[in-house]
Amino acid sequence: MANPSKRLPENVPGDFYVDESCIDCDACRQIAPDVFRDHGEQSSVYQQPRTEAEVLGALKAIVACPTASIGTTRDYDARRGVEAFPERMDENVYYCGFNSESSFGAWSYLVVRPEGEGGNVLVDSPRFTRPLVKKIEALGGVRTIFLTHRDDVADHEKYARHFKAARVMHRDDNAARYGVEHVVGGEEAVRLDRDLLVIPTPGHTRGHAVLLYRDKYLFTGDHLAWSPARRALTAFRSACWYSWPVQTRSMRRLLGYRFEWVLPGHGRIHHDTASAMRRHLEDCVRWMESFG
Ligand code: SF4
Repeated sequence: MANPSKRLPENVPGDFYVDESCIDCDACRQIAPDVFRDHGEQSSVYQQPRTEAEVLGALKAIVACPTASIGTTRDYDARRGVEAFPERMDENVYYCGFNSESSFGAWSYLVVRPEGEGGNVLVDSPRFTRPLVKKIEALGGVRTIFLTHRDDVADHEKYARHFKAARVMHRDDNAARYGVEHVVGGEEAVRLDRDLLVIPTPGHTRGHAVLLYRDKYLFTGDHLAWSPARRALTAFRSACWYSWPVQTRSMRRLLGYRFEWVLPGHGRIHHDTASAMRRHLEDCVRWMESFG
């Protein structure tokens, strides 16, 4: 629970606030940009919600916040925020909400598919909480858990056990240590089924991989994201734990694939036409190579 006595002074007066435990993960700003802003290494409320839609956005941010840093002094029905997740992003692709502090608030996703098409896929792991688990059960459970890399695994064990799901992860990010059932290796893409392709993208970490679904949705972990400030696809140079040149090479290899959505763990989501996305990716590769 957020602590009103630790309310940050940067919040404007009113019901909603962020307290000093904020870790600056960006989730609230992405979910409710009319309410939350970055005031420099933390978030705060810059405008109290004025409409029902903005109130709902703030309630969703409360649920998604990995550190319970957002509070309200008014007695809103918090279930509205809880009920909003998983939230459909497009077609059968959902954002799970309930971001986990252990993955620094990384976003996780659920792809809902009939059993005949291979069943549901969880991409990285949200917090294991009863309300979310029940919603996922109602959507058909989880057959496969794809873990992009070691930083964003969060409660993967609990999800795997509860849903009897098989986890997929690259061996170079200690997949064996996590007890992963399907370990992939090397840099060749691995097809899981007709619609799912694992593409190793070493760089951010040695065993990072992304997941391409139906040549349309690319789940990118911490490899690739949209930067609203630069209006460009980007990679996190200051948070590259293994090798920037290797990550740059991995980025160039992604030019061989078609996709319309970039769905990252950190950073912003982006949707565009496949041709525009390719141009953005070419620009991103050039930008990465400019660092030598
Ligand atoms: S979601 Fe929570 S931790 Fe993340 S930036 Fe907002 S207040 Fe901070």
